Amino acid sequence: MNITCTRHGHCAHAHRLDAAVAAATLLPVFRGSGHHPRPPFRHFRLPRPAAVIAAAGLVAAIPALLPASPASPFVWNTTLANGQEYVRSAEVAAFYRFDRHYESGWTTWFRSPTLAMGWEVDTSVLTINDTRFILSSPVLRRDGEVLVSRVDLVKWIDPLLRPTHVRETEDFDTVVVDPGHGGIDFGTRGRLGDEKEYALDLGLRLRDALVRRGVRVVMTRQTDTAVPKGVRGELATEVGRSVLVSLHFNQNNSPAVHGVETYAMTPVGLRSSNDARPGLEAALGFNGNRRENASLALAAAVQSQLLHRLGAADRGVRRARFAVLKDAARAGILVEGGYLSNPAENARVHLPEYRARMATAIAEGVMQYRDAVRARPQPPASGP
Ligand SMILES: [Zn+2]
Repeated sequence: MNITCTRHGHCAHAHRLDAAVAAATLLPVFRGSGHHPRPPFRHFRLPRPAAVIAAAGLVAAIPALLPASPASPFVWNTTLANGQEYVRSAEVAAFYRFDRHYESGWTTWFRSPTLAMGWEVDTSVLTINDTRFILSSPVLRRDGEVLVSRVDLVKWIDPLLRPTHVRETEDFDTVVVDPGHGGIDFGTRGRLGDEKEYALDLGLRLRDALVRRGVRVVMTRQTDTAVPKGVRGELATEVGRSVLVSLHFNQNNSPAVHGVETYAMTPVGLRSSNDARPGLEAALGFNGNRRENASLALAAAVQSQLLHRLGAADRGVRRARFAVLKDAARAGILVEGGYLSNPAENARVHLPEYRARMATAIAEGVMQYRDAVRARPQPPASGP
């Protein structure tokens, strides 16, 4: 097998593999068939948040995943803005070998035969194929250049575009399925039903869908029981060769808010997607940080499948320091399968067929992630 490395320390074989794995994990939308429930990417307009999220003061010393090859260190040329390091769009396009990169209105597009990536100035929304990601810092324009935060590049974009470079991934044969809440903890209460009931039903369906695909499943609860705090993530840590999927449904004070979200653990120093500031916990490392990039890749695969198979609104892949994600030393995600505070979404979630499709989507996402993990050479098995 020929491997050609460039001055970037970037290897041609690895690049082709990454492009293939990234494209397979994040469903391409150029299908041309009527089966895709969402509008084609070229018509998809990134919404502009009403308020630009202020760039938060990040912990400066975040270890970079790059360079691609230890033998040939690659250093991004960075520009300081708002006290943070930023990288020019043109440099990103060159490094990842996008065929084209151009600006259209507020959006900068990057295109290759299988991947389309876009980001919009003054927002934190990144789109890769048709899946959205809520970055930690907004994209900026300075002196005619569109800039992306270096930590977002390293902690968000690189693991997605180069999944085979994520060193912390481990092969797995077990999924720990965690239906949220239970017992006296009802979770969110919708007009038609409670979060704890929907989460348990979805969890049991997900268990069956995974078992049919040859995956072993460990449930954190199989009945309407309360699970003590801390047990869920710790159980995931104890089960070897596993990933964690925690299942929840959401609520918002505004009944208009609807759609699905998939969360992975926030890296040390970064702001969580829903927070204005990094917060006190940002400086601390948790179990969940051991596989934060693997978790992001798993979240991306599952969110992509949820959008593809449910046609639900895309609220994006997000980062959060949820207790279950902090505690689990495995690749782990938390799926928010819809807003029970939105009457129409509550009605959909209430349908057993919809929950069955959601279970299939999550199972398919898990399997795609496993294919991506298996596409890269595995380091020797290690403990958490
Ligand atoms: Zn919940």
